Amino acid sequence: MTKERVCVIGSGNWGSAVGKIIGENVLKHSDLFEPEVRQWVFQEDFKGEKLTDVINRERENPKYLPGIKFTENIKAIPDLVDASRGASVLVFVLPHQFVRGVCEQMKGCIAPSAKAISLIKGLEIKPEGVTLFSEEISRKLGINVAALSGANIADEVALERFCETTIGSRSQQDGELFFKLFNTSYFHVNVIRDYVGVELCGALKNVVAVGAGISDGLGYGSNTKAAIIRLGLMEMRKFGQTFFGTVEDTTFFESCGVADLITTCSGGRNRKVAEAFAKTGKPIDVLEKQMLNGQKLQGTLTAHEVHQFLSARKLTHEFPLFETVYRIIYEHAPLESIVRDI
Ligand code: NAD
Ligand code: 13P
Repeated sequence: MTKERVCVIGSGNWGSAVGKIIGENVLKHSDLFEPEVRQWVFQEDFKGEKLTDVINRERENPKYLPGIKFTENIKAIPDLVDASRGASVLVFVLPHQFVRGVCEQMKGCIAPSAKAISLIKGLEIKPEGVTLFSEEISRKLGINVAALSGANIADEVALERFCETTIGSRSQQDGELFFKLFNTSYFHVNVIRDYVGVELCGALKNVVAVGAGISDGLGYGSNTKAAIIRLGLMEMRKFGQTFFGTVEDTTFFESCGVADLITTCSGGRNRKVAEAFAKTGKPIDVLEKQMLNGQKLQGTLTAHEVHQFLSARKLTHEFPLFETVYRIIYEHAPLESIVRDI
């Protein structure tokens, strides 16, 4: 049997934590996977050296996941086409704003028999419609794409603290392969068929987390935040039902659903930066640079994209929480509208 060759596209905070898991699991399942895992790294300078050189020497990504060691079989590669050449399994894990450019570069270089999984938490929203990244990548590269999302703050996963995650896969065979690639004693994977629900939850919970952060910044306390989480969950469900009829209610009870909402609204970057926004009034892009050291926020961008999409359909009033988050961040609406207008 030909063994699978794995390539990880992305090496940020989550990309690095996931690289650690994959590096260990391909060695554990050596009957299924080639030992070497190639990881595409967006090249940048780190203390006067190329980040890829530092990662390959130190077995660690000191910029995005300091203090966590990778296995020897992870190879950081700065050229996307070199990294993905010959791969039969592709793991997409990068901020959603960069996916389009990455797929353009990879077009024509990937075998049609390859399979992929998207760990991206965001949606591809254009005025004409909303698409999932699994579908967008599948269309651009002509391959099957599953999705993974869950209550998975990268730093905690990298420290091997117990959590769960959800894989959504239409293909049972691919689902079984991805289970082997990701499941560990501390990272419990559940595979379901509803890949649409998995991805929608991952993207939309980031908008709710921005709302939770605004509430925290105002000092409103736990009850208010719980109300924002509940209303956010209802809007996530309604968005799925309205624009993707196939989302199943049971998906919201998986790790990708209510569990991810809870963790992101307590420990996530979207929450943290939104809290600082409410406390300081500094613009989001300034706070992102000051607080995240190169990591990227997804929730504010998604709030903007969701607003454009709903507004083109005259449906913003049906999603008051999503819309209020958008108006506070982009239209200087009063912070207090986070409770008044939802
Ligand atoms: P990150 O927030 O750490 O983002 C930084 C990454 O973007 C770096 O690898 C950087 O090199 C890269 N980058 C910067 N400019 C770029 C460009 N022009 N083109 C391509 N890449 C560029 O990334 P992350 O935390 O790995 O997040 C990736 C995805 O995973 C996101 O959708 C996120 O929501 C999701 N996610 C994150 C976490 C987490 O805890 N960090 C957990 C679960 C899911
Ligand atoms: P943040 O991007 O808000 O840190 O959320 C991380 C996450 O998705 C945890 O599951």
